Amino acid sequence: MAGGSSPCIFCQIASSSTSTTLLHNDEKVVAFQDINPSAFRHYLVIPKQHIPTVRNLQRRADDYSLVSHMLNVGQMLLNRDAPQTVYRFGFHQPPMNSVNHLHLHCLALPFIPRWRQIKYTPLGPVGFIEADKLLKKLKPLTPNLYDCSDELL
Ligand SMILES: [Zn+2]
Ligand SMILES: [Zn+2]
Repeated sequence: MAGGSSPCIFCQIASSSTSTTLLHNDEKVVAFQDINPSAFRHYLVIPKQHIPTVRNLQRRADDYSLVSHMLNVGQMLLNRDAPQTVYRFGFHQPPMNSVNHLHLHCLALPFIPRWRQIKYTPLGPVGFIEADKLLKKLKPLTPNLYDCSDELL
């Protein structure tokens, strides 16, 4: 157990100070199973840095590369653990987010139970936003900052 007593549960998970099994751990992000899975596979990818919500992200290279890295990690894990299924990746926007630490939902369908899909379906400006939509919003406008990025989408 680390000495710190951060009130944020996801910060605690990111610093490996909980018993949560990390599916992925690098210098920027960690991934783990959703505690209350809504699909065949349901993982969360979170930044190690405490960023509260998608509203705290801006159109700039750092935020864009962080989110595209989160998406790459999620795709890699689902490709490994649930190949040949349909995936959905995205974020809850306030006030629909449950934990105030940015987290990418990585879902391999089907939803279980089926009605849970409503939580992960884009329904407007306060609902779920798919990761590729968010990336389009964050994509820097300076041409030399986004070489190759189209390959990530
Ligand atoms: Zn946090
Ligand atoms: Zn959420």
